[in-house]
Amino acid sequence: MTDLRFDNTFVRELPADLDTSNVQRQVLGAAYSFVDPTPVSAPRTIAVATDVAAMLGIDPDAGDFAEVFAGNARRPGMTGYAMAYGGHQFGHWAGQLGDGRAISLGEVLTAADGRQELQLKGAGRTPYSRGADGRAVLRSSIREFLCSEAMHHLGVPTTRALSLVATGDAVVRDVMYDGHPAPEPGAIVCRVAPSFLRFGSYELPSARGDVALLRRLVDFTLERHYPAYAGLPGEEGYAAFFADVCERTARLMAHWMRVGFVHGVMNTDNMSILGLTIDYGPYGWIDDFDPDWTPNTTDRAHRRYRFGQQPHVGYWNLQRLAQALSPLFGGVEALHAGLARYVEVFEASDAAFSAAKLGLAQPDAGDEALIADLRGLLLAGGMDMTIFYRDLATVDLDAPRAASLDEAFYDETGRAAVGEALQAWLLRYAARVRADGSPDAGRIALMHAANPRYVLRNYLAQQAIDRAEQGDEAGVHELLDVLRHPYDEQPGKARLAARRPDWARERVGCSMLSCSS
Ligand code: AMP
Ligand code: MG
Repeated sequence: MTDLRFDNTFVRELPADLDTSNVQRQVLGAAYSFVDPTPVSAPRTIAVATDVAAMLGIDPDAGDFAEVFAGNARRPGMTGYAMAYGGHQFGHWAGQLGDGRAISLGEVLTAADGRQELQLKGAGRTPYSRGADGRAVLRSSIREFLCSEAMHHLGVPTTRALSLVATGDAVVRDVMYDGHPAPEPGAIVCRVAPSFLRFGSYELPSARGDVALLRRLVDFTLERHYPAYAGLPGEEGYAAFFADVCERTARLMAHWMRVGFVHGVMNTDNMSILGLTIDYGPYGWIDDFDPDWTPNTTDRAHRRYRFGQQPHVGYWNLQRLAQALSPLFGGVEALHAGLARYVEVFEASDAAFSAAKLGLAQPDAGDEALIADLRGLLLAGGMDMTIFYRDLATVDLDAPRAASLDEAFYDETGRAAVGEALQAWLLRYAARVRADGSPDAGRIALMHAANPRYVLRNYLAQQAIDRAEQGDEAGVHELLDVLRHPYDEQPGKARLAARRPDWARERVGCSMLSCSS
C-alpha cells in the first residue's frame, strides 16, 4: 500500500485522556482516549467501495489491506483513538457514552485537498465500552457498509464506508433480546467522514460544566470544519456555526423523507455535527407508505423515531445541542434564531423535494394540498412509496389512468380502497402539471432525479446477509454495484426494484430490527 498522508488534527489540537490504559472509566477533561484496535484472528476483505478507496488514494489490492482495515496492522501516520461523547437516548440524558467499539485511525489528506477521518467500527474494546465487547457482527456491518454507500449515491449526506472485512472471530449476540444468545460471524467496517463529531460530543463537557473543554471543541470544529465562521468576532462565529448545523440537519431530514429512510435511533449521540447520516443501526426503508412505521423493535412501544416524526426529532435534538452550547452565549437569541432557521429550511427543502418528486418545476402554495392528499392516498392504499413515485413519471397525462400505478399496490384491498380517489387525484395532478408548463422531458428528468428506482429495501439487505452468512458474498457485491446508480433503470436488475415479497412482511431483519449489532 502506498503511504497515506495523515494529518491528525483531532488528537493534535484537542486534549487527550492522560490515562492510556484500555480500562473502562469516566474520562474527564479530554476529547478522546488513545487506544489501539484489538487484533482479530483471520482478516479477509469482503467488499471495498472502490470510489472511496480512490478518493483516499488507497489501493484495495494491496497485500496488507485486510490486515490494516481489520486493525491488525498499522500504516505510518496512523494513531488509534476513541472519542468521548454523551447523548440523549430515547429522550433521556444518558451521560458518557463514547466510541465503545469504534476506533479512529487518523485523518487522511486526499488528493482533492480534502480531509477524511478513517474509523474502524467493531475494532475491539475501548475505555468507553461499558461492559460490551467492542465488536460488531457481519449482518450489521453489511447493513452499515451497503446503506452508507447507497445513501451517498442517492445524494443524501452521509458518512461513507471504505471496506467490509471479516474478522474470522465469532461474536455472541442475542438478536431479539429474548434469551437466545448465539455466535455469529464478526466483521469490521472502515467508516470515512471529514469528522465523526456528534451533538453528544458537545453535550458531554457541557453537562459536566467543563466550559473550557466545550469551548476548545467548538473552536476546533469551527477552524477545521466551518472555517468561514472561525474568524468572526465574539459570539458571531458560534451563532453562524449553530445556524449552519441547524440548516444542514434540516436538509438532511428533508432528504430522509424524500427517499423513505428511517434512521431508527435518532439519539443525540447519533447526530452528526456536519449534518451527515451517521450510525447505521436498526434503520429501515419505507416499503408501503406509512409515516408511523419504525423498523426498530426497541422503539416499538413509543415509536419515538418513526418515519414521519424524524423532522420533529431533528428539531428536538438541535434544542439539546443549543442547550449544550448555551454557556458560550451571553443570551439565547442566537440559539433561537438557529432553531428558527431549522424550521424555515426544513419547510423549504421539503416543499422543493416534494415538488420535484411530482415533476413540478414551478412549485406554488397550492401544491401543499395536492401533496397532502397524495400522502393520504399512499397511506390508505398501502402503496409502495418508491415504486409509486418512480412510476408516476410514466403516467400518460393526456389520459391518466390509476392502472398505470398498479405495481405500487401490495394487495387488492388497497387498490379497491383508493382506486377511484387515485383516479381523481391523477386528473388534478395532470391539470397541475399542464399549468406548470414544463416540457415532458424536463419534468421526467426532474422526477427521475428525485425518485430513485433502487433503494436498499430491508429484505434485500437481509437476503444478501443470509447468503453472506453461508459464505456467498455475491449478493453484497451486486447490491453495492446496483445502488451506485439508484436513479438509473438497470437492465436485468428489475427484481431489485420490486415490492417487498409477502414472506418478508414480518420477518426479523426485514421489517423488524433490534439494536443488537
Ligand atoms: P449505538 O446504538 O450503536 O449508536 O451505540 C450506542 C453506544 O453504545 C455507543 O457508545 C457505542 O459505542 C456503544 N456500543 C454499542 N455496541 C457496542 C459494543 N458491542 N461494544 C462496546 N460498545 C458498544
Ligand atoms: Mg451511536
